Amino acid sequence: MSTRFFACTIVLFPLILIGCQRPLSEKPEKGVTFELNKTRKSLYDSLAYDITLWIPEKRTDSIRGEIKIQFQLSNRKSPVILDFSQPAKMVQGVRYKGEELKYEVENGHILLPARRWDSGLNEIEISFTAGDLSLNRNEAYLYTLLVPDRASTCFPLIDQPNIKARYTLTLHTPVGWEAVANGKLVEKRELKDNWYYRFAPTQPISSYLFAFATGKFSKRNKKIGGREFSMYYRETDHVKVDRNADSIFEMHAHALDWLEEYTGIAYPFGKFDIALIPSFQYGGMEHPGAVFYNESALFLDENATINKRLARANVIAHESAHMWFGDLVTMDWFNDVWLKEVFANFMAAKIVHPTFPEMNHRLRFLLAHYPAAYDVDRTLGANAIIQELDNLNNAGSLYGAIIYHKAPVVMRQLEMKIGEKLLRESLQDYLKLYQFDNAKWDDLIKIIDEKTPLDMKSWSDTWVKSAGMPSYELVMKDTLCSYAQLPDQKEGRIWLQPLQLTLAVGDSVHTLTPDSNTGNNAQWTASSGLSVFPNPDGVAYGYFSMDTLSVQTFLSNYQQYADPVFRGSQLVNIWEGFLQGDGGKPPVLLARLLGVLPKESNSLLVDYLLGRISSIYWKFLTEEQRQYFQPQVETLLWKQLLITKDLGLKNTFFKSYKSMAYSPEAQEKLKSLWLDSLRIEGLSLSEEDKISLAHQLALYNPEQSQQILNDQRAKVLNPDRKGKMTFMMPVFSADQTVRDSFFDSLKLPENREKESWVLEALHFLHHPLKQFNSIKYLKPSMDLLQEIQRTGDIFFPTRWMDHSFGGHSSPEAAAIARQFIKNHPDYPVFLRDKIFQATDLLERAVQLKSAQ
Ligand SMILES: [Zn+2]
Repeated sequence: MSTRFFACTIVLFPLILIGCQRPLSEKPEKGVTFELNKTRKSLYDSLAYDITLWIPEKRTDSIRGEIKIQFQLSNRKSPVILDFSQPAKMVQGVRYKGEELKYEVENGHILLPARRWDSGLNEIEISFTAGDLSLNRNEAYLYTLLVPDRASTCFPLIDQPNIKARYTLTLHTPVGWEAVANGKLVEKRELKDNWYYRFAPTQPISSYLFAFATGKFSKRNKKIGGREFSMYYRETDHVKVDRNADSIFEMHAHALDWLEEYTGIAYPFGKFDIALIPSFQYGGMEHPGAVFYNESALFLDENATINKRLARANVIAHESAHMWFGDLVTMDWFNDVWLKEVFANFMAAKIVHPTFPEMNHRLRFLLAHYPAAYDVDRTLGANAIIQELDNLNNAGSLYGAIIYHKAPVVMRQLEMKIGEKLLRESLQDYLKLYQFDNAKWDDLIKIIDEKTPLDMKSWSDTWVKSAGMPSYELVMKDTLCSYAQLPDQKEGRIWLQPLQLTLAVGDSVHTLTPDSNTGNNAQWTASSGLSVFPNPDGVAYGYFSMDTLSVQTFLSNYQQYADPVFRGSQLVNIWEGFLQGDGGKPPVLLARLLGVLPKESNSLLVDYLLGRISSIYWKFLTEEQRQYFQPQVETLLWKQLLITKDLGLKNTFFKSYKSMAYSPEAQEKLKSLWLDSLRIEGLSLSEEDKISLAHQLALYNPEQSQQILNDQRAKVLNPDRKGKMTFMMPVFSADQTVRDSFFDSLKLPENREKESWVLEALHFLHHPLKQFNSIKYLKPSMDLLQEIQRTGDIFFPTRWMDHSFGGHSSPEAAAIARQFIKNHPDYPVFLRDKIFQATDLLERAVQLKSAQ
């Protein structure tokens, strides 16, 4: 029906549509397409919402809502398309100037027919029932989490980031509930049956940033330097709250002061409140005026490690930085979502690093970002930082390692390229020019381009708008050696970046910095015993090949290299070389890394080494080779676990031992630890550690698995953890039919709701020791992927694929993935890429094993 009346509009009023980019001639698709977004952007102005919600005490009772939507239209005879992804029955009526208006509900939209709208402000009123999907309703509290396009699951609106609006909110809550929202609280009335809260209109903000939380929260206030902060929280341990509250307020105050100084713009959103939510989905979410955090990330235990304290400072600085980067200036379309994330991280590092002088931030940056980015960028499914996005309902597919790990590397390169001062000036201009509005990456590049003679556009095309990474090759010809970027066969790009090379013969060390304009081409005369260590400072990004002799020299003289960043960078080079097939056979590298491990004491590097050792052990060795290495691996890890003094490292070694040591003797040790008949000094095992031990023992010993797990479950007090154990139990069964029916149960969305439970179950279901029994689940897992993308959280499709293929290393498993891609030529590219990314190590393992 809607198709018909939109078609009518075109026939009857052809001239009126000239000013508009595209006629809304067809029934809109589900979600917000790029076209609908563009059309609406050109139509609407002065958008404002006044929302009232009646929240019942009982979690399952529905929430009644009323919304007044004000807007001005550039084309007064246009139909109006609102977003509300709920069934028609959730809309009770639409009124305009006091009269009922005809409307249709189609594909998650409310369609209002074309009519003669007023030239000034129009106001429509809608009565509706709020959708629960993104209201996170719990027994005594609820909170919104509406990113990227979930506001429209809750109430009717125009749910796209580039039409900013003012939101006014009224809440009727159960008696005794606190409430916090983006706007300042202007009125609170404690009535007999409910409490009434009225919040002031917000500044213009994007729909994904609208937020409120209400429930049984405690509240604290603090004034620092003229700024008032309020904190809402659920934690009942007052000692814990006392210990943390002041530092949380102070870190926010410090971050906001720093950002005002850096940007030259005062904090734009008036009041600043925070709500600490138990089991919040992310570390934090940057709602202007009402930032939400995961409570456990902010309320730390007494002896919190430096990593935990650093992570807390980081998330506070990150969300504070979003107030300018993301909230004040917002991306135009979600394909630029990386931009707000990269700036928030970039600013957070500047704010936080000086307050943690004991941490090697360069090493942390290297190991946190480069390996994870290479894990995607070396694959057939590599994506650019800026990706195409046809519909907002696919926005979740944009998130991944390239946004979170390659983008920070590229941003650091940008700052090195143009200098700190110029970058800061450009960012200040960008924020001033686009405040309370939207901007694209290209808008920033244009600003920078005007300030520098450098060709920023082609730099951006290479690094930001195309996928993949440069490869560098060492060539030795007679007496001449050269190191250079390989020509880019496909696109002819030159990757401009600073690259260093360290040349060493014995004690004589020399560092070259080849010109980046020539692809970092360097030449020198060969001399015997010369080692070449590319990228010694770990700044450049790409594949840096090394020759066998240099690799050997580095690994045999490992202790001589004093700089942890140098060691980290060479280890990364060696690992990438191994995956490219340039690094020799898996058993050879494994033996060498096991030799290096006891010589390393830096906890970040130990972590990295253990990750590579585990990967070779489970994925790149044949069954016989793994049995050959097993005693050596077990003995070494046990020894390190006992002798290391550092408690953090002790835990790391314990985790590795548990996941790699499965000989009968090792199982005995694990069992004794689980039963407390064996204790290791300095290693205390929490309830969660005990559950994890029970899972591991059940995996290694399927016949006894149910007994072990039943015993463990009986001891668990926490109801969440108990529930998780029950959920995962069938995965460990010795009976294949039980495992089969568990897998089949995952085909129903309600059985996938607890995504972290599902992922852990998949890890054990597809464990390398079980891979030949679980190979049959691979194809059905890929068959489900599109549905999983529709129903799951933004990170779930990638993780579903990674956990399904993670344990597999057989040619048969690789063939199943290849066949699936071949059989589905029209498969959505971004999901196909996820399959390529998830099977990259599998493919390489198959090749390396067959080459032996
Ligand atoms: Zn963020």
